This record gives sequence, C-alpha cells and structure tokens, in this order.
Amino acid sequence: MSIKEQIQSLKATLPEGVTLVAVSKTYPPEIIREAYEAGQRIFGENRVQELVAKYEALPKDIQWHLIGHLQTNKVKYIAPFVTLIHSVDSAHLLETIHEQALKHGRVIDVLMEVHIACEASKHGWAESELWEYMASGAWKQLTGIRLRGVMGVATFTDDQQEVRAEFERLHAIFLRLKQEHQFGPEFDTLSMGMSGDYPLAIECGSTMVRIGTLIFGARQYNKPIL
Ligand SMILES: *Cc1c(COP(=O)(O)O)cnc(C)c1O
Repeated sequence: MSIKEQIQSLKATLPEGVTLVAVSKTYPPEIIREAYEAGQRIFGENRVQELVAKYEALPKDIQWHLIGHLQTNKVKYIAPFVTLIHSVDSAHLLETIHEQALKHGRVIDVLMEVHIACEASKHGWAESELWEYMASGAWKQLTGIRLRGVMGVATFTDDQQEVRAEFERLHAIFLRLKQEHQFGPEFDTLSMGMSGDYPLAIECGSTMVRIGTLIFGARQYNKPIL
C-alpha cells in the first residue's frame, strides 16, 4: 500500500474523537509530503533538531507535535511553532516551556507524560510524583502553558493483559486529574497507542494515537536523514 492508502485505511478504522498523529521521525520531508498530500496535517517527531528542520522544509499549515524526551535547553528552538508537547516529565521543563511561550507571545499546549511501562528506560513522571506536583498547584501560575491531558508509552510486549492494564491505569489517571483539578473541556487528550497497540489503546479510552511504522514502514535509524 502507498502512504496515501495507509493513511486513508487507518483513518477509516479510527473512531470519531480519536486524533491521528503521524509519527514521521527518521523519514525525510519528501516522504512526509506524501502523507500531507493525503490530507494528514498532524505529525509527530521525537528529536528537536529534526523537528525544526522539517518545520522549515514543509508547508506551514502542518501541526507539529513533539513526542520524545525534551531537554530544557532545547525548548527555545521549538517554542515559536510547536502545536503540542506530549512529553512533559518535570516541573522544570514545564516552567521552561511557559517562559519560552511567553517570549513568543504564545500559550503552548502540553501533556504530562506518565511512566506506565515496566521498562526502566521509558521517560515520564512516576505517578506519585505527578500527584504531588499537581497538588502543589505550582502549575497554576504558568500562564504560558495549557495542560491538555496525559501521554504514556506502554511496555513493549506481546502480553496483552499487561498492555491493557497500563492503558487502563493511564486512563484512570487522566480522569482523576480532570476531576480533582476541575479542568474544563480543554483537558481532552489521552495520548496513547502506537502501531503495535493502538486498537487496544482505543478500547481503553485513547483520544490520540501516535502511529509511525504502520504508515511509513519500518524505520532505519542508521541512515542520515537530513
Ligand atoms: C516512535 C514513537 C511512536 C510511533 O511508533 P510506531 O511503533 O512506529 O508506530 C509513538 N510514540 C512515541 C513516543 C514514539 O517515540
């Protein structure tokens, strides 16, 4: 199937209310353009330098999401244009995004990334630390950010029970945050599900799936991209 056909068939299977982020990391602009021409406008990248280069090379009505780990010293490069940052995992990072947003006269939408997987390598807030930080109320002063929801990456495993349990846990965190802090309708994003597990994520309440391999094919990390 072509990229266009992949996007169209994937979109046809997504329920209403589930947004598709096409994860284009490692793929060059001309490949991304094929997806753009199929109507896709939301793309996700996990590295700042690559995101900036693609932003500059591609049409300006693309909405760019940062889905990978973000270092505070790199926030300034994406603050002028990024649409949604999925990977906020510390108070310091949130404060930095707020400051950079104000510098550019923007309010930047963000998600809190929660560590739900068994693997130690995955990023995100430990659940207890997230509750503690949210209870502190410090985030309420940050007028440069708008908290839209949470994001998580499940364990890479064939064990469907384990993956389901992790997605259900993230869904519960999302609902509890929304209720405890009385967020309004803008708190609407539960970002979970990738190529291998997105149908399960949707069953568990996902409103945003991040899909790369299924659209673009397997990635080759050893190849220079730009
Ligand atoms: C790469 C990546 C994805 C997409 O993974 P696929 O398996 O290619 O669909 C989703 N989320 C994050 C955080 C990623 O880094």
